[in-house]
Amino acid sequence: MPSGATHDQITLSCLPIVGGLGLAVTHSASITLSLTGSFLFSGLMFGPDLDIYSVQFKRWGLLRWLWLPYQKGLQHRSWLSHGPIVGTLGRLVYLGLWGLICAAIALSLGLMTRWLAWDWQVIFTLKGHLLTVGGQYPWEIGGALLGLELGAMSHSLSDVLGSVWRNLRKRRSRFRSKRS
Ligand SMILES: [Zn+2]
Repeated sequence: MPSGATHDQITLSCLPIVGGLGLAVTHSASITLSLTGSFLFSGLMFGPDLDIYSVQFKRWGLLRWLWLPYQKGLQHRSWLSHGPIVGTLGRLVYLGLWGLICAAIALSLGLMTRWLAWDWQVIFTLKGHLLTVGGQYPWEIGGALLGLELGAMSHSLSDVLGSVWRNLRKRRSRFRSKRS
C-alpha cells in the first residue's frame, strides 16, 4: 500500500490532467474549477483512508473526531470505504448525517434559549433555496461529484497497483532464492 505522501503525490500529479481534460471536454471554467477543487479535496482529505488513522484523517484537524465512528464501523480497505462510487457516496451520506445532527443540536439550543422561534416555513424556504441552487448549477454539482469520485479512485487504484507490484516483487525474489 503506498504511503500517505505517495498518495498526495499521485493526487497532485493527476490534478493538471483532470483539469486539462475537464476544460477540454466542458469548455467551462466554473465546471473545471468545481471538478479540480473536489478532486483535490477528495485526494487530500476526503479519500478512502479516512477509515484509518491516516494523513487524510489528520488533515481534518479539530474536526477529526467526526471520522472516529466511521473508522470503528469499517475495516481498513473494506469495499465500503475503498469501493468505487459506494465509498464516496457512503462518506457523503456519513458527513451529511453529521451535518443534520449538528443542525438539530444548534436548532434545539436556539429554541431552548428562545434565541430562535420555530416556524415550519423555514424548512420550505430552505428546500426552495436548495432546489434553486441545484437547478442553477447542475453541471458544477455534477463536476464536483465526479471530482470526489476520481480523487477517491486514484487512491484505491494506486492501493491495488501497489499491492500487485509488491506481490510480483515477492514472487521474483522467491524465485531467485530458489534458483541460487
Ligand atoms: Zn487506502
